[in-house]
Amino acid sequence: MDILEEYELLSIIETPNECLTKKSEIISIVTSDIKALAKEMMKIVKEKEGLGLAAPQLGRNIRLMVGYFFSPKLTALINPRIVRKEHQKVIFREGCLSCPDKEVDISRSEVIMIVAENLNGKKIVKKISGVSARIFQHELDHLDGKLIIDYDKSTDENVS
Ligand SMILES: [Zn+2]
Repeated sequence: MDILEEYELLSIIETPNECLTKKSEIISIVTSDIKALAKEMMKIVKEKEGLGLAAPQLGRNIRLMVGYFFSPKLTALINPRIVRKEHQKVIFREGCLSCPDKEVDISRSEVIMIVAENLNGKKIVKKISGVSARIFQHELDHLDGKLIIDYDKSTDENVS
């Protein structure tokens, strides 16, 4: 193993940056480049002791995200989406590696049904809840160009 590997993590993009506000593109083929990026993202989450990370945070606007969606396992998901949400919502304070020193109370669904693919193209359908569901919704927001500070704005004042 290359010793440098540990010290040369890609750096996380912080707001304001166009990559963080753009809608990311569907991945049609999981190339070796995308697999390598996913591996790198998992390394960063562990290194930063985060809960998840989305590709736009590394400057790649593609629908790839990693996180503890099926805790305790760190998983990479391709083209994730929510197919069903339960009405019950919970407010929880969230932070984000792209919005340093910011924490925002966000109301999200407690239980969701998700569909995605893994890195081998296998379809995953699962019902997740609690922290896992929260991480999923946070990372999915990144793929749609939405940040925690956008929730902040909408509650502070009704100017859009
Ligand atoms: Zn984030």
